[in-house]
Amino acid sequence: MSRVLALCGGVGGAKLAAGLADVVPSGDLLVAVNTGDDFEHLGLPICPDIDSTLYALAGLNDVQRGWGRCDETWNFMTCLGELGGPTWFRLGDRDLATHVWRGARRASGASNTQVTQELATAMGIGCQVVPMSDDPVRTVVVTDEGPLAFQEYFVGRQCQPAVRALEYHGAESATLQPQILDALRSPDLSAIVICPSNPWLSIGPMLAMPALRKALQKGSAPVIAVSPLIGGRAVKGPTAKIMRELNLPTTAAGIARCYLPLLSTLVIDSSDAAQRDDVLAEGCDAIVTDTLMPDRAARRRLATVVMDAVAGD
Ligand code: GDP
Repeated sequence: MSRVLALCGGVGGAKLAAGLADVVPSGDLLVAVNTGDDFEHLGLPICPDIDSTLYALAGLNDVQRGWGRCDETWNFMTCLGELGGPTWFRLGDRDLATHVWRGARRASGASNTQVTQELATAMGIGCQVVPMSDDPVRTVVVTDEGPLAFQEYFVGRQCQPAVRALEYHGAESATLQPQILDALRSPDLSAIVICPSNPWLSIGPMLAMPALRKALQKGSAPVIAVSPLIGGRAVKGPTAKIMRELNLPTTAAGIARCYLPLLSTLVIDSSDAAQRDDVLAEGCDAIVTDTLMPDRAARRRLATVVMDAVAGD
């Protein structure tokens, strides 16, 4: 048996997680998901990255909109607005069922890990999906306008304020989810894959947990990341903007620097092939391939490249 641990954020990372689920036997794949974006809204526990990952793995995600569930309707949102309720965070009718059910299960004593596994099973997902921790970790974006809670920055302010630093409140004392720790200690672990998620908003909260950082430093297994930049730009979201604001080059080498010295290999897009030597100069290996994942075939192809690189190590 050769196990794979994938570290995943939301929509971008989930595309590769779905590809990995196509090429790695389901019992061998553990997808650990960021919970730094989680928050409570209208009395409901919202876990945006877990839900994006579950929907993508189950094929229930909306590809056009880029987030949430497909075939979504918005009656709840319309009625909420008519009642004078907050509409800044959009909850579709189908999506709402996930949050309401998670809230009910949590209220009856189930942990976030249990609920996530129940949801995954109900959605027909074969691999294991777990939150990075059952303890609360909250990403705070320190901006030129002061500190902002994640959703205030991301949805409320549409990522407009300039980022000065990131804080991951609770990460230092959070207990790493036990299945992740088991995987990291397993002699069968063949690779840790960092999916093409935002390094600061999605992967940063995970690496801020000492147990995960230490395990990666010890070299439990090769760490292979896929760059979320294509042609020096993010496919979607503020990754490149944040890199500029933090004075990092918006290049593959800039992404490598986010994960060094933990990183063994960075997979970069063919359009960034000229940056390969810069990545090597940072001290890790580089693989050049097409990394845009518009459909299942592309996701599976990229996942195969990643797994071939692991096998060749
Ligand atoms: P979020 O929390 O929903 O924003 O999702 P993530 O943090 O997981 O993903 C955001 C990142 O995914 C952005 O930096 C995008 O550039 C990247 N991304 C989205 N789609 C793709 C893709 O098809 N290929 C690659 N390489 N990156 C992608």
